[in-house]
Amino acid sequence: MERIKRVGLSSGTGREYRVEDSLLFDQPFANGPDPLLKSRTPRCGARALGAAFAVSLACGAPPANAWGEEGHEVVALIAERFLEPAVDAKVRAILAEDTSGLTSSTQVDQEATWADRFRDSDRNTSKIHYKQTRDWHFVDLELDGADMTTACFGRPALSRGTVASSGPADDCIVDKVDEFSAELANAATRSEERRLALQFLLHFIGDMHQPLHASDDHDRGGNLKMVSARGMAANTLHHYWDVEFVERLGTNETSVAEQLIASITATQRAQWATGTAADWAMETYSISKDHAYGRLPAADSPNHYRLSDAYVEDATRVTREQLSKAGVRLAAVLNRALAKSL
Ligand SMILES: [Zn+2]
Repeated sequence: MERIKRVGLSSGTGREYRVEDSLLFDQPFANGPDPLLKSRTPRCGARALGAAFAVSLACGAPPANAWGEEGHEVVALIAERFLEPAVDAKVRAILAEDTSGLTSSTQVDQEATWADRFRDSDRNTSKIHYKQTRDWHFVDLELDGADMTTACFGRPALSRGTVASSGPADDCIVDKVDEFSAELANAATRSEERRLALQFLLHFIGDMHQPLHASDDHDRGGNLKMVSARGMAANTLHHYWDVEFVERLGTNETSVAEQLIASITATQRAQWATGTAADWAMETYSISKDHAYGRLPAADSPNHYRLSDAYVEDATRVTREQLSKAGVRLAAVLNRALAKSL
């Protein structure tokens, strides 16, 4: 299903990519394909997780992307429902120009997974796209002292003439949402960059609402904590929030989206659509502090947590609301940006 082709971010700009060295992420996985849990996936076998079985489980996990693909598809489908008709038409027209072949179609729900696929398209080869964009998917606000500037690598401004898709690798999801929103709203943005801006926004506004993409406990956003729960295979805490709790809402993205759309009230839509990307990230951070991390039980062995049914129920409820908010906010961002440049 998944066709992987190399695509260029900055063709025609002549700009060199800034490639960062990394102590954490640059080693290929020793045990088969990358789990692709997210850009902060722990290196298998490189770091003790406290229990050998935990390491082998982490290394053998099936492929999954941040908010798994289902989560991103649900967010996009909710957003699509709330787009103004003229904006919806514009979104479809822009996405139709995507010839990367990285997604199974250019429909908005599929394109919402593009940024993970783009990042991972050369993860085991040249790592150009991987290193350039991997840190853009999250903001590591620390539980023991959330500081947006630190978590956003000093909040680097784009240098004059540099498009957002060629911006510094050391930047966070909050800055990238702001930069890509501004590009989408600007009628002078070149068409290729406008398409990339839309593709990144479709994905990043979703990621920003995954609690473990806006918080960190010095555990790579929950990737170093192993968890298990009744009826669920052991995996990382991060994976549970990306995939497991989303799947508890149902495994068909269209019906999950319909279910969520039906329960979003007009008051919620109006309320959720306010605020900035930074506000939304801080809100996700507090939710993570209170729920994802805040309700973890004491470890039952080093770095392993057995989640109660109550934790799973609460996390599923939070996931449902976060996907709904992300969909409403994605629509608001696109309606605002594209109404100006129609
Ligand atoms: Zn992502």
